[in-house]
Amino acid sequence: VVRMLESLKDEVCETTDGHKLELWVNTGLVADAMLSLERGAEGVGLYRTEIPFMLRDRFPSEEEQRQVYREQLEAFFPHPVTMRTLDIGGDKALPYFPIEEENPFLGWRGIRVTLDHPEIFLVQVRAMLKASEGLNNLRILLPMISAIPELEIAQMLIVRAYEELMEEGYLIDMPPIGVMIEVPSAVYQAKELAARSDFLSVGSNDLTQYILAVDRNNTRVADLYRSLHPAVLRALKDVVDASHSEGKPVSICGELAGDPTAALLLMAMGFDVLSMSATNLLKVKSVIRSISLTDARELMTTVLALPDTESVYATMEAAFKEAG
Ligand code: PEP
Ligand code: MG
Repeated sequence: VVRMLESLKDEVCETTDGHKLELWVNTGLVADAMLSLERGAEGVGLYRTEIPFMLRDRFPSEEEQRQVYREQLEAFFPHPVTMRTLDIGGDKALPYFPIEEENPFLGWRGIRVTLDHPEIFLVQVRAMLKASEGLNNLRILLPMISAIPELEIAQMLIVRAYEELMEEGYLIDMPPIGVMIEVPSAVYQAKELAARSDFLSVGSNDLTQYILAVDRNNTRVADLYRSLHPAVLRALKDVVDASHSEGKPVSICGELAGDPTAALLLMAMGFDVLSMSATNLLKVKSVIRSISLTDARELMTTVLALPDTESVYATMEAAFKEAG
């Protein structure tokens, strides 16, 4: 099976009726790049910049960050690399920047932290922009956006960093700026967010926890954490439609994208890019190549009308069995 999957590495990811889908990877370390490229990844949909911050005992300097980002951008060049700005708080802690809260997932995390500390944000964005000089394969992604002004302020800061660097003599293209859709308010404002940005990317790990009110790391309620819950599926479909109605591409970078069964539904919903851990890439490609978009859409329409997760699983399982 492994050999069979490996042979898919250079095949295009398209359905039997010719619908193409981009498969990208989620990364955090430069080491991830090797495996990703071996598996035929066409881009990075989520580079988690927290990882290089976690490996140190203090905030990395602008130059230290520039070097780490440069390695990522070079490793994947000419493919696009989507770098998410620092997403700490919630379940992601920095030992040298403790955040003590009773309700961390509803507290100070992601963009909320960096907008309160523009000096951290600006240093990071400057490092990303500098790293992209001569390559221009950078995309910037903003985590935990829950209201339009957060996007606008972040964009203003990015433009400020960009203009500073232009004045300092750097020759860089302005990168596309995207918004993570991972809280319910962003789902309901997906159209407005898409209109004001260059792309959307769904963080289904957090979106599931916030739609279902289930802590993503609490084992006691783990049975209730279900990304194939009809409410989550409908939210995903709405985000795709909202983004496309503004002519903007939409990707998904939560764990769900790497689940072959779910990937079928996500493709049928119209996601342009599925971004996943490199280990799942060939499995997902193999499933996409085995079905037609027409059949996948039919299955999706059926599934979106189901009342509960159990029926979603049962329907998907039956469809897989039938397809062999
Ligand atoms: C997500 O929330 O789905 C996501 C991709 O980001 P993270 O898992 O890093 O919060
Ligand atoms: Mg998230």
